[in-house]
Amino acid sequence: MRVRHNVALTDANTLGFSALASRYVEVATLDEACQALALARRYCWPLTVLGGGSNVIMQHYLSGLVLRPVGQARWIEALDDKRALLHVEAGVPWHTLVVELAQAGWWGTENLALIPGCTGAAPIQNIGAYGVELADVLEAVHIVHLEDGRYEILTREACCFGYRDSIFKHALQDRVVIVRVVLRLEREPKPRLEYGGLSQRVPVKPIPIDIVDAICALRREKLPDPAVLGNVGSFFKNPVVAESLASRLYQSYPDMPIYPTVTGDAKLAAGWLIERCGFKGYREQHVGVHDRQALVLVHHGGGNARELLDLAERIKLAVYECFGVMLEPEPRVIGNEGH
Ligand SMILES: Cc1cc2nc3c(=O)[nH]c(=O)nc-3n(C[C@H](O)[C@H](O)[C@H](O)COP(=O)(O)OP(=O)(O)OC[C@H]3O[C@@H](n4cnc5c(N)ncnc54)[C@H](O)[C@@H]3O)c2cc1C
Repeated sequence: MRVRHNVALTDANTLGFSALASRYVEVATLDEACQALALARRYCWPLTVLGGGSNVIMQHYLSGLVLRPVGQARWIEALDDKRALLHVEAGVPWHTLVVELAQAGWWGTENLALIPGCTGAAPIQNIGAYGVELADVLEAVHIVHLEDGRYEILTREACCFGYRDSIFKHALQDRVVIVRVVLRLEREPKPRLEYGGLSQRVPVKPIPIDIVDAICALRREKLPDPAVLGNVGSFFKNPVVAESLASRLYQSYPDMPIYPTVTGDAKLAAGWLIERCGFKGYREQHVGVHDRQALVLVHHGGGNARELLDLAERIKLAVYECFGVMLEPEPRVIGNEGH
């Protein structure tokens, strides 16, 4: 384990904003993570845990210590001939894992293909796509508490998962590092094809890798590749509103997509609201809104977090004024603007 100083993080965030870490350490094992945390405690360095940087808006300077879990181990624990638990260390790239599991014929994670980032970050916002969330396959999360180095295993219930939400965005926000995730896998075919025209893209009896391939193709058609155009995927969560507000909106906008939720509320499509406010394809100097998907804010190069956050505020205001609905950003802002 080596703490490095003044490390550039421009390539470590998918928006591609120029950023610098005062101190930066990669930890490959639990022991190294505990050593790094002890060091941060001893010198009172504030800690920032970083994965693939695909869900953060990175401001210019990260003081304290940036800690990046990079452990790559994964191993299977068979439960019986049809079910298994998969233990995965935090540094494993999520999409690599999904492809490996699909190629090996395991069901569970295939709909979550091509989501960037590391496995350790997946529980933070309960990643989801094409009708599946991490919570559907998660068995447990292994964490270390930042304040005292305590190791703990959280069950799925203890993670309090919700739509793009978990305990790691509330009581445990900025208080733990996730070092390992345990997933439940099945041999029994369980294709979930009801979202996004998926059923038309796969064979009648698909195997997991068919679904992975179809989802990759669909996502590539819709979403910009961060290697080409900086972005963090969906910038805003789809707002959940009271059914009464959804009905009123429907009277005025009969083409508005509205999805009933299990709690009796209604989920609206943030991208549709933004597009109706005229922002699709909008550009303001270095930042803008993607021209194929209004939910994705993009960085064209040479810009910074402040510009993007200002644009996001303007979008939020416009949507609120037009529909009375408040949008909530998905990514976290990390770091400081100045040195
Ligand atoms: C093109 C694109 C498409 C996307 N599509 C989707 C999608 O379909 N569904 C979806 O849900 N998300 C999507 N995302 C968002 C993002 O990929 C996920 O949220 C992903 O899980 C973030 O992983 P990361 O490793 O990049 O996390 P980072 O961005 O590095 O970190 C995100 C947050 O998690 C914390 N964190 C990271 N690792 C750990 C750890 N080991 N322990 C404790 N805290 C940690 C960080 O401090 C930060 O607060 C997309 C992003 C992009 C760029």
